Amino acid sequence: MTPLRLFALLNPAIGIVFALVFLVLWTNHRSQRHILLMSAAAGLYSVAALAQMFLPLSPKYGVNTMVSAVLYMTCLALFVEALLMRAGVRGNVPWLALLAGGIVGLIAFFFYVHEDLTIRIYVLNLGCGAVLVFGALRLRLARDPKPIDRVLFWTVLLVGLHFLPRTLLTLFADGPNGTVNVENYRASLFFSLLNFALIILALMLCLTFLLAIALDIIEGLRAERNRDGLTPLLNRRGFEEQAGASLARAGPERACLVFCDIDHFKAINDTYGHGVGDAVIRAFGRWIREAVRRDDVAGRIGGEEFAILLHGAALSDAARFCERLRLRVEAGEEGIIPAPWRVTSSFGIAKRRPGDTLAELMERADQQLYAAKRNGRNRVEG
Ligand code: GH3
Ligand code: MG
Ligand code: MG
Repeated sequence: MTPLRLFALLNPAIGIVFALVFLVLWTNHRSQRHILLMSAAAGLYSVAALAQMFLPLSPKYGVNTMVSAVLYMTCLALFVEALLMRAGVRGNVPWLALLAGGIVGLIAFFFYVHEDLTIRIYVLNLGCGAVLVFGALRLRLARDPKPIDRVLFWTVLLVGLHFLPRTLLTLFADGPNGTVNVENYRASLFFSLLNFALIILALMLCLTFLLAIALDIIEGLRAERNRDGLTPLLNRRGFEEQAGASLARAGPERACLVFCDIDHFKAINDTYGHGVGDAVIRAFGRWIREAVRRDDVAGRIGGEEFAILLHGAALSDAARFCERLRLRVEAGEEGIIPAPWRVTSSFGIAKRRPGDTLAELMERADQQLYAAKRNGRNRVEG
């Protein structure tokens, strides 16, 4: 085996390493199917590179040509689908199948019907570029894009576009009259350089995707850390983090903070047990979730105490909101607590004043809640 061929083995080796890395990652995050797809893409890349190296080139290299074309195109299509699946962009499979299938078809045509290696090289290279550029453009449809999505977009776009100069460069590969001879081409330093460039670019794609997955996992852990285990709301830490950020973003815009607390909750626990108490807390959290708008921040900040930051709300808006929620709680729901118990709740509202910190606002909302309890419970103060 020549040093050049040995060097070319780097390509499949890297593919196998990444296939394993993504596979291990996926076994720990099985709901994220794009990680498994990426593992399959990396594995296929490795198989494609090995097939291209080791399938016989003579006497007829049709098997080599067609097998590596199918493997490379499938690998790229899998990669692009993994990329788009992660970003939540759906409906790409038919387009990818059409694109990859068309390219394989063209390669077959320029092998079996109208033999021309030069055109085949162009078709394969430009085809790879087209699939990647398609992926980058579709990535722009990502919902809720993060900074890493911009990095992915540019990486995939540039790797896709590099196939254009790469293809044109092939024109200068040796061969009389602008045509390329397959054995000379494969043995040339130029082919090895192209391979080396491919290794770097494939590495770049894999590492950027790996970084995106790592950031997704970190963000998921942070969200989990800030989430309450019983209700679909934030916990105290998450509430303070998000409410603080929301106030800072809102600038001088008006806002109200609501504190609410379930009345006589200790008695619910004592009478019906903790299981029923938990069910009441869960239902309360759900009713809050149903009542708030997208910009509001809601959290369970204590045992049966909740805080809601109402974005853009005047005191009268907040009072209406609380009254609606109070009535919702009072109306109850079958199956949560045995009759004749009626769950009620008390509310305290603090209106944001210029220069208020979140802590000051929370302090005033708590005082209002205390007033609501003192004044007989099942009421709103503010
Ligand atoms: P008040 O009307 O004045 O609010 O009376 P209360 O009985 O609701 O008083 P308090 O707020 O002091 O009671 C809170 C109780 O909530 C005490 C605690 O045992 C219970 N608790 C705290 N967290 C949980 C929880 O996660 N599940 C259940 N079931 N109970 C909890
Ligand atoms: Mg209470
Ligand atoms: Mg309480």
